Amino acid sequence: MAEVLVLVELNPTGEGVRKTTLEALTAARALGEPAAVVVGGPGTAAAARAQLAEYGAQRVYVAESEEVDQFLVAPKAEVLAQLVAEKSPAAVVIPSSPEGKEIAGRLAIKTGSGFLTDVTEIAPDGTATQVAFAGATIVHSKVTVGTPIYTVRGNSVTPEPAPGAAEEEQVAVQLSDAARATRVVDRVVEQKSSRPELTEASIVVSGGRGVASAENFSVIEALADSLGAAVGASRAAVDSGYYPHTFQVGQTGKTVSPQLYIAVGISGAIQHRAGMQTSKTIVAVNKDPEAPIFELADFGVVGDLNTVVPQATEAITAR
Ligand code: FAD
Repeated sequence: MAEVLVLVELNPTGEGVRKTTLEALTAARALGEPAAVVVGGPGTAAAARAQLAEYGAQRVYVAESEEVDQFLVAPKAEVLAQLVAEKSPAAVVIPSSPEGKEIAGRLAIKTGSGFLTDVTEIAPDGTATQVAFAGATIVHSKVTVGTPIYTVRGNSVTPEPAPGAAEEEQVAVQLSDAARATRVVDRVVEQKSSRPELTEASIVVSGGRGVASAENFSVIEALADSLGAAVGASRAAVDSGYYPHTFQVGQTGKTVSPQLYIAVGISGAIQHRAGMQTSKTIVAVNKDPEAPIFELADFGVVGDLNTVVPQATEAITAR
């Protein structure tokens, strides 16, 4: 069976691989045997190997060197281009982070291949699905030139374990002068919150303009903490200064697909739905029974969030 290269994204905190990598490994299985590619400093692959094996990596290409971490995305694109030339894989699958999309673009130029970004599904014949215009249009496309390169949109594929041999093969890193053109001078890892990361959480509680102030977001946070959930926010809440932009869910924010999404004081505009409509179960709390979010919700509570949410938090905490 043909090999499919999957670029590994690691947790910046050093705790194994990101969920996006497990999603990419799962998506890649439609096209062939996943072969994970780890590019990083010495010892990087060791922390990732068990997870890569658990999610179906038959091989792990280890491109480690003291210097790759000193540069930005260029080393990863160069290592992938080297592997494409040496191994002739059926495709390359990369998580759709800003970094991943830049690597895909560079790799496409280097290998003379077509690439598709933000795909939500890859069919065994290589046809990729993309969602456009906030979910209003579904596009099916296929790469017709070179080695197909895909970036997989976060939370669109459910990671599924599958046994993989994860046989390691060392790759000699040969960076060009161009890859050394931009050097990292400092890295700041965001302080770790006790809450799960928004895009990886299995429960998300989001607040909207209805929360009415930054201080009142403590109501949302308390419910989230009672459930071990991440906190999200609508753009109106973010633009009003109630919550930081990094927690925005929607078309111009993050895409989440948790088991449970609780929308509190959020009307359900199409741009908000674009970031959460694939959640498995959606609960809405809104004082307006006509709010569009109720069309999407599996369960709805019509009421004032300042009454409903603290009651729910209390009941959950008491359990
Ligand atoms: P509103 O629409 O004002 O709704 C507030 C809701 O709270 C109402 O339904 C109201 O009934 C309810 N409410 C008020 N008080 C209470 C209370 N005490 N108890 C219970 N319920 C109460 N939006 C996003 O969220 N994410 C995006 O990424 C995004 N990207 C966008 C991109 C573009 C190009 C554009 C044009 C818009 C984008 N938007 C995005 C904005 C989007 O169109 C909406 O304006 C926004 O989602 C509305 O946020 P909201 O639901 O919190 O506010």
